[in-house]
Amino acid sequence: MAAEVGTALAALHAAMRDVLALPYTALSDADLLDVCEGIQDVRNLAPAVEHRAIAALGAQSTPAAIGAKSWPVVLATRLGISVKEARRRCADAAELGPRVSLTGEALAPKREHIAAAQADGALTPDHVAELFKFFTKCPDWVTYAEQCRLEEKLVTGAIGADPETVRQAVDHAVFLLDQDGPAPTDNPPTKPFGITFGPQQPDGSYHLRGKVSAEFKATFDPIDEKLAAPGMCNPTDETPCISGTPSQQQIDSDQRPAPQRRHDAMLTAMRLLLAHKDLGQINGLPATLLITTTLQELEKAAGVAITAGGTKLSIPDLIRLASQALHYLAVYDEHTGVPLYLGRARRTASAGQRLAIWARDRGCTRPGCTANGYRCQAHHATTDFSKGGLTDADALALACGCDNRLVGDAPNKWTTRINNHGQCEWIPPQLLDRGQHRTNTYHHPETLLADLTRDQKTGSETHAKQAADTEPDTAIARGNDLSDRPAIPPELLDQNHQQPNTNHHPDTQPADHPRDTTSSTTRDTNHHNGNGDRNSGDTHNNNGSGDDGESDCHPA
Ligand SMILES: [Zn+2]
Repeated sequence: MAAEVGTALAALHAAMRDVLALPYTALSDADLLDVCEGIQDVRNLAPAVEHRAIAALGAQSTPAAIGAKSWPVVLATRLGISVKEARRRCADAAELGPRVSLTGEALAPKREHIAAAQADGALTPDHVAELFKFFTKCPDWVTYAEQCRLEEKLVTGAIGADPETVRQAVDHAVFLLDQDGPAPTDNPPTKPFGITFGPQQPDGSYHLRGKVSAEFKATFDPIDEKLAAPGMCNPTDETPCISGTPSQQQIDSDQRPAPQRRHDAMLTAMRLLLAHKDLGQINGLPATLLITTTLQELEKAAGVAITAGGTKLSIPDLIRLASQALHYLAVYDEHTGVPLYLGRARRTASAGQRLAIWARDRGCTRPGCTANGYRCQAHHATTDFSKGGLTDADALALACGCDNRLVGDAPNKWTTRINNHGQCEWIPPQLLDRGQHRTNTYHHPETLLADLTRDQKTGSETHAKQAADTEPDTAIARGNDLSDRPAIPPELLDQNHQQPNTNHHPDTQPADHPRDTTSSTTRDTNHHNGNGDRNSGDTHNNNGSGDDGESDCHPA
């Protein structure tokens, strides 16, 4: 059976290679369009194949047996696609793939007519997407049988039509249903309350959207009246007034419009909370503002500091924050790596050690995982504590709860180890291994650009790097080179154990170097970026405190 699969897939690949090898510059317009059409036919059919495979997997196995916590994660890991795309494919397979009843009897797909037309190659993915909108727009009271009847009509009309026409037909079908339906009630279902942060913008800002309860608004009203009044909490004042009454001069010089004053009022209210209330810990880290940066960036007053929540702060922002209240600030040297030794004292890594490991790893170390530092635990990367593992920082790495549970000895478990650069490597179980990156650079985007920065500094190193680039392993290891990683800040160490400095020459050469060097290092960067998930829209949304497209490993 396995041989049959191999032969069929090899024939598919061979056919694609034949098409790829056609003499494209010598083909007529008609031939070229035939190629485009032929490839579209393949695209139309491909999902039907995948739906069958995913449906069969779901019927005979579990994600845990393969080594992941859900089917989308299985697909994302094995195929190198984003979790968002994998979720979409699983959802499509549930609607369009063959089903099995509880008694083991084969059933038609839930959306039988779409599935049949798709398996005939008669629908493009655009058609399928438009047809699916019918079911999301369809009112609740429409029975499944009625839905199927309308689905059949819509599919018949869709074959040969363009997607715009299908959209029109779907909207018309929904409109007709609405005419037949019950009158709207006085209390339509309301959206639940919630506040969502979008992804961090290039200027560092976030878009905020949401809906709040009357109670929320009522509680905010006095804060709004007090702290958002003109002259209050004005960041441009040398000493902003945060209680009592602002001076007449503070009021007169306040140029901020009301929404901006409200923003500053909320910020002040949150700062007061952090300053005056001990909120305890989050996964062993103090529940307050935790920031790491390098001494070099602080001295230049330029660059980026990163919080445990994954938010990037400009250095001027950081300096302003640090002047206002005491937060945890971990400053490390850009060029030193300092291991931490605490020995086997406690099962739970101590808060100081947690801070140090967090400053080094910043987030979950499993490749592709976007869980930030607050959501992670200290993971025994070499040997589990129950088997004599040490709680030394250099044997520990950050891992989110669900990834921590993926690690074990069974064949469906992941294994972890610390490589020669002090990084935690994650080795997938066999069924999920496509030779992907073993380390996670998501929380260290600067390592992906490290060559760029360094090449600007030392042009002479460039050629050696490009040569090394031909070897994938070298490239991966260098992209995550320990010397590019934040070192553990010495003030957080129990025993300072200085490692020899790695040999860097930061200021030997000015930034002006030949143009072709720049372009080649840009390609180099893209090469490192081959770590699939990093490029997906899904993970972008997980930037910082973004609630949109939540990290797959957010604690329940
Ligand atoms: Zn994780």
